[in-house]
Amino acid sequence: MRRRKTVYVDADVLVVGGGMGGCGATYESRYWGCDLKIVCVEKANIERSGAVAQGLYAINCYMGMQWNENQPEDHVRYARTDLMGLVREDLGYDIARHVDSTVHKFEEWGLPIMRDPKTGRYLREGKWQIMIHGESYKPIVAEAARKAASEVYNRIMVTHLLMDKSRKRVAGAVGFNVRTGDFYVFRAKAVIVAAGGASHIFKPRAVGEGMGRTWYAPWSSASAYALPILVGAKMTQMENRIVLTRFKDGYGPVGAYFLHLKTYTQNAYGEEYESKWYDDTKALVGDYIDQHPVPTCLRNHAILREVAAGRGPIRMVTKEAFQDPHKETIGWENFLGMTIGQAVVWASQNIDPKHTNPELTTSEPYVMGSHATCSGAWASGPEDYAPAEYQWGYNRMMTVEGLFGAGDTIGGTAHKFSSGSFTEGRIAAKAAVKYVTEKGRDQPQVSDAEIEDLKKAVYKPMEHYQIYRNEITAGTVSPSYILPIHALQRLEKIMDEYAGGISVNYMTNEPLLTRGLELLGMLKEDADKLGAEDLHQLQRAWELQHRLLASECVTQHTLFRKETRWPGYYYRGDFPKLDDKDWHCFTLSRYDRESGKWAMEKAPVYHIVSSLLSG
Ligand SMILES: Cc1cc2nc3c(=O)[nH]c(=O)nc-3n(C[C@H](O)[C@H](O)[C@H](O)COP(=O)(O)OP(=O)(O)OC[C@H]3O[C@@H](n4cnc5c(N)ncnc54)[C@H](O)[C@@H]3O)c2cc1C
Repeated sequence: MRRRKTVYVDADVLVVGGGMGGCGATYESRYWGCDLKIVCVEKANIERSGAVAQGLYAINCYMGMQWNENQPEDHVRYARTDLMGLVREDLGYDIARHVDSTVHKFEEWGLPIMRDPKTGRYLREGKWQIMIHGESYKPIVAEAARKAASEVYNRIMVTHLLMDKSRKRVAGAVGFNVRTGDFYVFRAKAVIVAAGGASHIFKPRAVGEGMGRTWYAPWSSASAYALPILVGAKMTQMENRIVLTRFKDGYGPVGAYFLHLKTYTQNAYGEEYESKWYDDTKALVGDYIDQHPVPTCLRNHAILREVAAGRGPIRMVTKEAFQDPHKETIGWENFLGMTIGQAVVWASQNIDPKHTNPELTTSEPYVMGSHATCSGAWASGPEDYAPAEYQWGYNRMMTVEGLFGAGDTIGGTAHKFSSGSFTEGRIAAKAAVKYVTEKGRDQPQVSDAEIEDLKKAVYKPMEHYQIYRNEITAGTVSPSYILPIHALQRLEKIMDEYAGGISVNYMTNEPLLTRGLELLGMLKEDADKLGAEDLHQLQRAWELQHRLLASECVTQHTLFRKETRWPGYYYRGDFPKLDDKDWHCFTLSRYDRESGKWAMEKAPVYHIVSSLLSG
């Protein structure tokens, strides 16, 4: 085995992932822990990493309490309705009550927020969204984190969390530098995981050379879930994968179009179609279809039904709005500052939205915790607001002591988006610092043997490749290893066909899920023989391992929930209806690393905020 240098880094608070949640956590850790050592570790470079790398055109979570526009309770009601009743209201409220202060900081740090010239207030795109000139959103936020951190380690992919010798508390993390190949051991008193969501779990619509073209960032590789799962943290709502309606082929977001440009959709024959599916949807989900706004999944459902009835494609009617030069500019700028690929796709396909109504499509499913979906870790709630059953320690601490999370990592809190993820990072950091000062003062003890074992495991794909490349029969094919790309395509195919992806119109059932789990088990065996020819492929190998474990978790949850709670995200053919009597609950899972078994349970949903409309 080639000798690799081991670099040890000791920290009080370790932040894994320097995206929106991670930057928030790093920034706030310094505020509360001014004399602590705060370390942030990121697999790319925090300057342009994570889902906000390209920039954004809107901040999707802002209450506007200074102008009495919305109250935190209103946001909880909104998220609850959108998620068909199932959100952690304590966690959502906690974010909503603090998110405005985060946005004010962004503005102070130089983020240009558009203002309404008449009122002087932030320019609203919708009830919760404000518009920004956000191409440089991420560098602005990263600068605050860089200045707050004791050290930022870029280009280090974290592969595993470390546990204390007692196995009772988290003790840090290990990973490797994707450029130098050095092995890194971070020993820390508290760890905050903020490693983003998961794309490429299900087969994407764009394959082959276009496979990087997904809606959620292709580098969001499920570490946020796999890292905590591996050390036994409970996960929740992992079945709540999200499907997005977006502009076809470029996945350009539609929010600004619907909300600001007031465009609307119609079927291939120029007809309104949503109302046609009202009775059909009502029969599946009851009164949830009468909610305003109509839950995101149900709007997808109408599109899927209409297309299945042979009246696709669904188009966004842009021709009218784009006659107004101001709206036309906004329409293009929206993409140029956020999803430039959509503008390029339209140019390459001769689509000028002024003259052609562009097609929409429904994406492959993604797993994440910050959008109109809430998969992630089961976390303790705020001391002043969470029901007793949701409190076992510090705010945003998972079921593993000393392990915190933020952003896509934390489950049950939909609609936090970029600003809410940063806010949740701040909340988690405040609690992590409190944990370090109150309970975690002693440096956790990590066994040298565990570190050596992990080091061997981390580089195994490269060793494996070195040995078995001699057996290559043709091209890149060797009977003794599997390359990360091949394993990824196999994973995507299994999830697509068995767990409700695009090729089966998001449909699954118990026999399919059971078979899917068997096939995932076989892939897991083969993934033990991953071969990586260089450090880049080694990163791909570990991303695959993280995606694979998260996929297993998604499949277990989907099997456990015997109802169709979110039609339009996925369907259980054997339980096609929503069942509030038995399933108005959270689903929880816990993975046992030794046995490879999953334990599933239900947890109650507490409705803390009244359903009366406020204001
Ligand atoms: C196309 C698109 C459009 C969006 N539009 C909007 C919008 O208009 N408004 C809005 O407010 N929000 C929007 N969002 C949502 C917003 O981007 C997310 O809610 C937010 O970025 C989630 O924060 P996070 O910290 O959980 O994940 P991220 O910001 O993605 O950060 C995760 C970080 O972890 C790092 N990482 C991952 N794995 C590892 C590992 N193993 N080791 C080390 N580091 C790792 C990643 O490189 C990344 O830097 C959009 C997202 C997308 C993809």
